[in-house]
Amino acid sequence: MNRLNDRRADQLRPVNFELGIAPHASGSVLIGMGNTRVLCGVMIEESVPRWMKDQRVSGGWLTAEYSMLPYSTLTRKPRDISKGRLDGRSSEIQRLIGRSMRAVLDLEKLGARTIWVDCDVLQADGGTRTAAITGASLAVSLACQRLVDEKKIPESPIKKLVAAVSAGVIDDVALLDLDYEEDKAATVDLNLVATEDGALVEVQGAGEEATFSHEQLLEMLSLGRKGIADLIAGQRSVLARAVAGTG
Ligand code: UDP
Repeated sequence: MNRLNDRRADQLRPVNFELGIAPHASGSVLIGMGNTRVLCGVMIEESVPRWMKDQRVSGGWLTAEYSMLPYSTLTRKPRDISKGRLDGRSSEIQRLIGRSMRAVLDLEKLGARTIWVDCDVLQADGGTRTAAITGASLAVSLACQRLVDEKKIPESPIKKLVAAVSAGVIDDVALLDLDYEEDKAATVDLNLVATEDGALVEVQGAGEEATFSHEQLLEMLSLGRKGIADLIAGQRSVLARAVAGTG
């Protein structure tokens, strides 16, 4: 299968980070990966969830929400609220985003606060959950830096950057960062979350009406790790510009 714009098997779609798109948020990023675009906004609440108070758990918490805007898809996707319940896919994705962020966050250093991460898909073309994680990582880093700048905490609770990407297999060939057309054609779909030092946070891989081999799994993992290293290099340069005030 020829890839759009002659993309190589190990090549990400063009990645773009636009910061500060939601001025009232403590950190906000519009991430673009090809035609997939996700709004990631972070707000910090000066309190913790009830269960933490009840169980006397110290430190803070981070929670995430994910949703696809009605006009993010080719045919209108009704808002969950109009159906009266969160759909299973959104619920699965927002828990993944929360776990991914908490894996790199020192909740003790955060203090008794809750970080809210809201990810809303503006345009869906495959890989929205992974783009949400990569964008959220930047938005949370910016929000935590703001807590430090405001002298609310002495140092950022973010231990490392985290990013995510998809990989898959089409016609027995492993490919990085599938768009929607590729996602539909893929017989295997893998979502990988990893940190800047290459440590894995989560691997979600499944055969779609098909199976896959150990070798293919390793191939997808290595493509994914390369893609994540590229994404984290991008996050780093955007953060450096933002901190220097030139972003
Ligand atoms: N998609 C859609 N409507 C939906 C769910 C998915 O149009 O209700 C499309 C969308 O382009 C999405 C892709 O299918 O990016 C792949 O969906 P999947 O559940 O695999 O998650 P994603 O790849 O977005 O993380």
